[in-house]
Amino acid sequence: MTDPTDRALSRAERQAMPVALDVAVEIAKHNGVCIRPVVLRRLDTHTGTTEDVNVPCGTTMEAKCPPCAKRNRYLRMAQCREGWHLEAEPSITPDEPTEEQRWLVEFRADMQAQRDAAEQAGDDTTELDAVLAGLDEEINAAGMRGNLLGRTAAKRNRSTRRRQDAPDLPKRVRQNTTLGRTFTSSDGATYRPSLFITLTLPSYGRIRAGQGVPVDPDTYDYPRAARDALHFSKLVDRFVQNLRRVAGYDVQYFSSVEPQKRLAPHLHMAVRGTMPRAEIKAIAAATYHQVWWPSVDEMRFEGEHLPVWTERPERAEPYPDGQDGDYLDPATGELLPTWHEALNRLDADEDAEPLHVVRFGPQVDVQGVLSGTPDADQCIRYLSKYLTKSLGDTLDADNPAQRAHAARMVEALRYEPCSPACPNWLRYGVQPKNAKADMAPGRCRGKAHKPEHLGYAGRRVLVSRKWSNKTLSEHKRDRRTWVMEALGLADETPDPHRYVWKPVPAGDDNIPSLALRLLRMVAERQRWRATLLALEASATGQDLSAVREAA
Ligand SMILES: [Zn+2]
Ligand SMILES: [Zn+2]
Repeated sequence: MTDPTDRALSRAERQAMPVALDVAVEIAKHNGVCIRPVVLRRLDTHTGTTEDVNVPCGTTMEAKCPPCAKRNRYLRMAQCREGWHLEAEPSITPDEPTEEQRWLVEFRADMQAQRDAAEQAGDDTTELDAVLAGLDEEINAAGMRGNLLGRTAAKRNRSTRRRQDAPDLPKRVRQNTTLGRTFTSSDGATYRPSLFITLTLPSYGRIRAGQGVPVDPDTYDYPRAARDALHFSKLVDRFVQNLRRVAGYDVQYFSSVEPQKRLAPHLHMAVRGTMPRAEIKAIAAATYHQVWWPSVDEMRFEGEHLPVWTERPERAEPYPDGQDGDYLDPATGELLPTWHEALNRLDADEDAEPLHVVRFGPQVDVQGVLSGTPDADQCIRYLSKYLTKSLGDTLDADNPAQRAHAARMVEALRYEPCSPACPNWLRYGVQPKNAKADMAPGRCRGKAHKPEHLGYAGRRVLVSRKWSNKTLSEHKRDRRTWVMEALGLADETPDPHRYVWKPVPAGDDNIPSLALRLLRMVAERQRWRATLLALEASATGQDLSAVREAA
C-alpha cells in the first residue's frame, strides 16, 4: 500500500509537474485505480455547472484495465454468490414509468443508436459505452432496471420460415418458480442443492496433452473451430431454453465463457436448483444451433476482383434498408443481392441447408453443490477465474507451437462472416447488411476477428434476469451502502435526474494529460481511504475488516 501521506504524490499533483506516464500508471495500479479512465462531461442540472469527470473504464462492465477488471471480478463473485442458493423468490414488479423515466429511456435509445452507428463504422465505442453505462445507472437509480430495457437498436429482420427444430427431449409442465427443489434430511434439516455445469465444444482434431496445440495442424478442423466460436453464445442460449423446458421451472444461471488451452471457448455455469446428471447430459447432447445465413460455399470475389460500390439515385426519404448505394459485380454490372434479398432467397429455397450447425462436445461435467460449502466457494472462484483475461490471453507467447496455433485460428476467421454486417459477405456475392462504400472482404473490424477474441465476441459473463435480482451496479451500490452503514454513516440517495452525461469531443484541449488525471484519481482514492481508516480507528468494538478491504 502506498502511504496516504505520500507528499511527493500530492506535490506532483498540485504543481501539475509533468510526470512520466508509466510512473503514473504504476502508482494507479498499485492503488487499485483505473488506468484508462474515460473523460465525460457532466452537466449538473441543479447548479447549471459543467464538470469533466474521470469515469473508470470498467464502468462499461467489460474487463478492460487490470484494476477495473479486478474490481469487476469481485463484484461478479458477489453477484454469483448471492443468486446461487436464493431461498425466496425474487420479485420483479416494475411500476409504470414516470415522465422522467421515459425521458431517460428515450435519451438512452438515442445514445444507443449513436453507439451502434459508431460500431458499424468501425469506430471506437469506449466513450459511448461509458455514457450508456452511466445512463443505465441513472435509470436504475430512477427505479427501473437498465438491463431490462434491452438493446434499442433496430430490430433484426429475421428469416422466419426456418425455425430451429425443437430437440427431442422430455418436457415438464412449467411451474412458476425460479427456485429449485429442497430436500429434507432425516434430522429435519433442509437442503437446497444446486448445480455447477461445464460445457465444452467438440474436438477439431487431436491435441498434444498439456500444450493445447494440435498433434497435426494440417488436419485440425480450423474452419469448424472458427464457426463454433463465432456462434457459441447462440448455442448457450439454446441450452438454457432446453434446460428450462425439461426442468419445468424458470431455471436461473450465472455463467462465464472462458478460453481453453486449445483456444476454444467453453462454459462454466452455476445453476440454481438441481436435476439428475443424466438429464443435463441428455440436454447438452440434444442442443444445437442452426445458423441460417447465406451459403459461403462459393467464393465469388477475391484479390483484385472485388464488387464495386455504386450510389443509388438521391431521393427525399431514405431507402427502407437504410443503404444509399449497392455493390455490383464489375464484370457483369449485376447488382449483388442485399442482405434482406439474400435471406428471402434462402427462405424460398426448400433445399437450403443452414450455413453451420453448432453443438457441444461429449465432455459434459455436472457437479452437485450445496450452498455455503467450500465446494461452492471454489466453484465461484472458478467461475470468475479468467474474467480478467481475454480468450487470446491464455496463449503462451513464448511457445512457438501455441503462437502458430493461434495464428492459424486468426487466419481461419479472416474471411468468415462474423455477423450480417460483416464485409466478408462480399467475398461470397452478398451485400452485407447496411452496406456502405469502402467495404472489402478480409478487412472487417469486428471484435470476433481479432487475435484477442479468437471468434468469440460475446459477453464473458451471462447472467439470467432473476439470478440475484440485481444488476451489477446495484451490487456495487450495495457494497457502498454496506460500508457506509458499518461506519454509521448515512448513504445519501443521489437524485437520479441531477446529472446529464456527454462524451467530450475528441481533441478538446482542456483535458489534462492522462498522467495527471491518474494522479488526481489516486489522490482522491487516498483521501477516501484515509477517511475510512480514520473512522475505523474511532469506531470501537466493531469488526470492520471488510471496511479495510473496501478501502
Ligand atoms: Zn479501468
Ligand atoms: Zn466480420
